[in-house]
Amino acid sequence: MRTTQGIPVSPGVAIGTAVVIDDADVPVPRRVVPQDQVQRQHERLDEALRQSGEDIEQLRDQATKLLGPETARIFGFHLGMLQDQQLTDQFHSLIDQDRVTAEYAVYSVMRKLAHNFTQQESRYFRDRVSDIWDLERRVLKHLIGEAREELGQLQQEAILFAHDLTPSQTAGLDTDKIKGIATDAGGRTSHTAILAHALGIPAIVGLEDVTGSVNTGDTVIVDGHSGHVVIDPDAAQLMEYRQQLRQRERFESSLDRLSELPARTRDGTDIQLLANIEFPSEIPAALGKGAAGIGLYRTEFLFLAAESEPTEDEQYEAYREAIRLLEGRPLTIRTVDLGADKLGDADPQLIQERNPFLGCRSIRLCLQNLPMFKTQLKAILRASAEGPARIMFPLISSVMELRQAKMVLEDVIEELEEQGVAYQRDIPVGMMIEVPSAALQARNFTREVDFFSIGTNDLTQYTLAVDRANERVASLYSAAHPAVIQLIKEVVRAAKRRDFDVSICGEMAGQPEFVMLLLGMGLRTLSITPPAIPEVKKVVRSLEIRECQRVARRIASYASDREVTNTLREELEKVLPEVCDGQLVGP
Ligand code: PEP
Ligand code: MG
Repeated sequence: MRTTQGIPVSPGVAIGTAVVIDDADVPVPRRVVPQDQVQRQHERLDEALRQSGEDIEQLRDQATKLLGPETARIFGFHLGMLQDQQLTDQFHSLIDQDRVTAEYAVYSVMRKLAHNFTQQESRYFRDRVSDIWDLERRVLKHLIGEAREELGQLQQEAILFAHDLTPSQTAGLDTDKIKGIATDAGGRTSHTAILAHALGIPAIVGLEDVTGSVNTGDTVIVDGHSGHVVIDPDAAQLMEYRQQLRQRERFESSLDRLSELPARTRDGTDIQLLANIEFPSEIPAALGKGAAGIGLYRTEFLFLAAESEPTEDEQYEAYREAIRLLEGRPLTIRTVDLGADKLGDADPQLIQERNPFLGCRSIRLCLQNLPMFKTQLKAILRASAEGPARIMFPLISSVMELRQAKMVLEDVIEELEEQGVAYQRDIPVGMMIEVPSAALQARNFTREVDFFSIGTNDLTQYTLAVDRANERVASLYSAAHPAVIQLIKEVVRAAKRRDFDVSICGEMAGQPEFVMLLLGMGLRTLSITPPAIPEVKKVVRSLEIRECQRVARRIASYASDREVTNTLREELEKVLPEVCDGQLVGP
């Protein structure tokens, strides 16, 4: 039995048989052709490029139907490369200069390009290497035929292992057969990761050399929550995971019955359960899980999935689609939160920063890229004419920064007024509380905005000085740390004093053990990842507010996160043992 650790990018657990995609690099030999065949190589190349373009457009149409236009825009990057005159000129001039075959010209130029991207320090470029492989393979397929096994030909259920999967391969996966994905390469924001998440396939990337230690036919476990891959698990581990999966399935089917019932505590307090989404195409499923609306729409994924910065109209369409799908339910649109681990084209200089999480990310990046920021605000405002929407600024760390963001918003509103464009005049404007300075100054901020949403993912990392994406310090990252809890308490207290709208949208809100504490501290709106909604609803329906307040008071005196988690687990087990059995303790 061997266990390796990678970066979990799509949640869920898969147990099954591994299929290792032989990604052996098939070299294309350098072949020189007689002068009278050079023209023929140009023609072959043009034809292969044309056919590749058709393939990609078809893939994009399929992905649009399946995953929505925002996710499908990933293929725009491939089309963009195909239509890049500079790149195609390089193929043609190699044929002319060296009299090589069309396939060698493509192979040679694309290898160099991929190599250049691999050498970049910027994660954005490194994450695009698989797009280059993808395009190279596609063009070569039209020139010399398929070089590797077609994934579509898999006959039975499998867990896929590959050095890297290209976005086309991922988007084309048969979700009935492929139960999990594990790759050596890839980052959190690679297109493959985004697509796997949108398809709902448990996935782990960045496993370094997992393909070197697993063989087709091996039994494997892919745990998309923790990032663990277990190869040849022993009987005990297999049993433990299988039992967990069965419990999970049983528990989930019991939860289905809850979807129509209100999220109301036993003593009659209504709790609003909202969903966090990356793409509007996730909205129907979120509503199906019982979400009362969307509390956090992470619009940066629109930018991450696109080959270039989305235009105002493209953004408008996405926001309007979200509003349309919600049919009047609440929607909080967060302005782009790019930078640090979420890099896209919107960072025009792609500057390498020594401390990206403390650098020019999120609202800071927007305030330094005003045309981009204004375009987004305009698109949101225009869409707001179609139904309820709220605007939320991320990573606000000072009052001046917030005022600056509001001034930009005012400018955009003025422009729309002048142009006579419709928008929601009283559109609520809020901010994320995810930096300790904002939490400590919450009282001041209540005079500046209409609502708060507490982002505990970043609040935890900044309070504890622990990079949320760094495996080496993962054990130090805990939202149960008393310092994080104290900051949340400060924010809720400041809000309550003025009857001010406060909610929470960090991952912690979707973890059953924290629900009691959050309700006890006074939170009444939780925005969480859609799959967690039924379980959290079940917890809510089993609680009494008075009991939650008692637990919150008790926890306020604790000094360590361990004490906090133990107490929360014990208390939850008292009211809901099945949640504790089914979910809380991972192997
Ligand atoms: C957070 O930081 O808690 C949050 C919800 O934002 P994100 O996870 O997108 O950084
Ligand atoms: Mg955040």
